[in-house]
Amino acid sequence: MPAPVHILTSSASAHHARRLSLAEATKEDLSHGPTVIIPDSPSADSPTSTTIAETIALARDHLEHQINTQESVIEFDEDDVSDGVSDGSGFLSNVAPDYVFGFDLDGVFIRGGDVIPEAKEALRILNGENEEGIRVPYIFLTNGGGKTEAERCLDLSRQLDVAVSPDQFICGHTPMSEMATQYHTVLVVGGEGEKCRHVAESYGFKDVVTPGDLIKWKPSVCPFRKLTDEEYKNSKERDFTNVNIEAIFVFADSRDWASDAQIILELLMSKNGRMGTVSETHTEGPPIFFAHNDVVWSTAYDLTRYGMGALRIMIEALYKASTGKTIDVTTYGKPSKATFDYATRVLQQWRKDLFNDPAPPRTVYFVGDTPESDIRGSNEYDEHSESDWYSILVETGVYRSGTEPRYKPKKTVKDVLEAVKFGMERERRKARD
Ligand SMILES: [Mg+2]
Repeated sequence: MPAPVHILTSSASAHHARRLSLAEATKEDLSHGPTVIIPDSPSADSPTSTTIAETIALARDHLEHQINTQESVIEFDEDDVSDGVSDGSGFLSNVAPDYVFGFDLDGVFIRGGDVIPEAKEALRILNGENEEGIRVPYIFLTNGGGKTEAERCLDLSRQLDVAVSPDQFICGHTPMSEMATQYHTVLVVGGEGEKCRHVAESYGFKDVVTPGDLIKWKPSVCPFRKLTDEEYKNSKERDFTNVNIEAIFVFADSRDWASDAQIILELLMSKNGRMGTVSETHTEGPPIFFAHNDVVWSTAYDLTRYGMGALRIMIEALYKASTGKTIDVTTYGKPSKATFDYATRVLQQWRKDLFNDPAPPRTVYFVGDTPESDIRGSNEYDEHSESDWYSILVETGVYRSGTEPRYKPKKTVKDVLEAVKFGMERERRKARD
């Protein structure tokens, strides 16, 4: 009986693993400008692994490193793991392929909370169950969020039966972590219950305010919103009369657009982010940051649903209608160049962690379901990237077969399994030619 590998995690405030050097970044840089996001240089003891079992151990180490308190344990049986990556002869090549995969998550691996049937096989192939017995590095780049990276990876590991390390996972709000040094008191919007408050605190934000705190302070701020008993209990008792909110961060999708929009707009038009004040010029409010800009997203329902990008449009429209002015917003996530820059560095580092090969990949297959974020971002990034970014659109999410995507992928396939098979076959052809 092999020893199980334990992956420890916690919903308590885990210290964030990756740090982005955003301290010198301006909003302009993040929206349109040159590359400004630089992950820390790899630690000297960055492990080099040669088997998938070690990859899992690596994931465990990363999680254990980050997390001080342990609340839950997931077990991976090493037998299952090695079975999962065997090519039949038990041989697993140590060759580092010069290509990698980047995956969107929702609509590619997960839909409506459930794993897409072909997803697990796709990962098994990348993890070594292929004719060459090679392991192909991959990362997940999702605009979603609402949990700490460590928690989300634990969920994913369970859902996909494969260990996913926070070091191969980027979500919409990941880059916001660096803003913790710039702003003290911040409003954090979106997500379930108190989760985004905890994420923000795990990023190092010192004073996190939620819409619930403001409604508890003065229920008349949002006259139609009644906090549930649970929300009332969790919201903080505080007098906001003299509190300046320095920045607004929309971490995840709003669960109550009306009250969140009411509060966001009041702050945007306020004097220095103080509730109950109105700036004469409407230009003295705090800056606002959105974790991503997806207008629609795919759920278990047949048609797409409105998401964070739609809230942004609504905020902009209401601000314009109220003030006659245009509000300047910053959005992270795909398709922003900053997010793809970050993904590039994470991919390179992950490849180095696996194979001790610091070279950048020659080709990045980027697989997504949303033409406006995944395909657009990948195609635009390809124009000025050292690597060849090859966009692949799948039909299991936002994009529907037979329709004309606004941004054209280099390849369209049915699902993520076909995407993986296509990319690997393309590489075999390249190697033969
Ligand atoms: Mg998607």
